[in-house]
Amino acid sequence: LSERLQKALRNLTGKGKISEADINEASREIRLALLEADVNFKVVKDFIKTIKKEALGKEVQESLNPGQQIIKIVDQELTKMMGEESVTLNKAPHIPTIIMMVGLQGTGKTTTVGKLANYLKKNENARPLLIAGDIYRPAAIDQLKQIGADLEVPVYSEDNQDVPEIVKHGLAEADKNKNDYVIIDTAGRLEIDEQLMDELKRITEVAHPENTLLVVDAMTGQAATKVAEGFNQDLDLTGVILTKLDGDTRGGAALSVRAVTGLPILFTGQGEKLTALEPFHPDRMASRILGMGDMLSLIEKAQQDYDAKEAEKVAQKMRENTFDFNDFIDQLEQVQKMGPIDQLIKMIPGMANNPALKNISMPEKQIDHTKAIVYSMTPAEREDPDILNPSRRRRIAAGSGIAVAEVNRMIKQFKQAKEMMQKMTSGNMKGLENIPGM
Ligand code: GDP
Ligand code: MG
Repeated sequence: LSERLQKALRNLTGKGKISEADINEASREIRLALLEADVNFKVVKDFIKTIKKEALGKEVQESLNPGQQIIKIVDQELTKMMGEESVTLNKAPHIPTIIMMVGLQGTGKTTTVGKLANYLKKNENARPLLIAGDIYRPAAIDQLKQIGADLEVPVYSEDNQDVPEIVKHGLAEADKNKNDYVIIDTAGRLEIDEQLMDELKRITEVAHPENTLLVVDAMTGQAATKVAEGFNQDLDLTGVILTKLDGDTRGGAALSVRAVTGLPILFTGQGEKLTALEPFHPDRMASRILGMGDMLSLIEKAQQDYDAKEAEKVAQKMRENTFDFNDFIDQLEQVQKMGPIDQLIKMIPGMANNPALKNISMPEKQIDHTKAIVYSMTPAEREDPDILNPSRRRRIAAGSGIAVAEVNRMIKQFKQAKEMMQKMTSGNMKGLENIPGM
């Protein structure tokens, strides 16, 4: 999914203005990308509608180019679609908090019971008790016992055919031992059937779990949403755990489950090991799907640090040829706050693919020198570089501790740059390398 989306959005970068045609083209690609990732059809439809509305309604911010702006909107909407906030387990007012794990066969219920026990032990110093509620495959009880032994967590099991009875006894055991969590493993089927649902409902009546978590295999894509809807009809599910995300490159299940069922995703399974469980963060998942984590943070940074109005003011000064050393120092400081200059320059609309800017870099030391020189100027000198005669220049050099020759060079470069910028704002790009330090 991420590859396809990136391709779609790359076509947009470098354009100066966002148009309805841009949005339509990007939307078409995003739609295909999502459908290819096996995201539910209706979810895709709604998503595209929202993206279009958001993109059209917004003015292009001066600190972003159209491609970046659409990426940002897509990222925000993906995050929203997956629930926005992280959701945690419901806690019981008195111990134990009860968690029931349900789901189809092979989705990872038993493994996830172990992972969650380990997670609670590590993060909350918890003392969970596990109840073996899958009695239909003899190996299932042994599997849970083995996991319990590995984690040094007690497992309650019984040679009994009545699962609700077993659960009742298990809960009594937890009360006796003052366990703060009880995690109930249950049986699954290859598909939802009445008998399975009936048993799960009877367990619920005995245990009244605070958390009924549906375990969903991420690799099943949007089929996962059908399962979720089915289980949710009969049981009061409180959330979803998405397993096998390590094997899922498409992200379809993660995107669909929440949108279709309204159920929050609490955790994700990222491998077979008992440590491979992570709390679910919608924003991080969105970035992962977009495959653009770095780019997104850069965009955020640009927005925080760069005031679009400020940029327009500077451009105007350049056009009017009133850009002075005060503006220059403001610009240098803005730029320094934002970080690596070569990366930043590429974020300027239209500059990303400019071959002249391929190997640009501006050493921090040189910026500091330049700043020191400007700081040693009087306000009048900063406003009008033309009054900088030799004696003033010598004073500035002494004040800043920088050689007169370098002061002269800097002033000369500033004048050239100013002239060049003025041309640039009227469309001529030649001579950018004459900006001081470039
Ligand atoms: P259950 O039938 O729902 O109880 O499923 P199990 O817990 O027995 O897991 C079925 C298989 O999926 C096992 O081989 C697990 O090791 C594997 N599994 C479970 N969770 C994950 C996961 O997050 N990632 C991967 N790669 N495998 C997993
Ligand atoms: Mg199992």
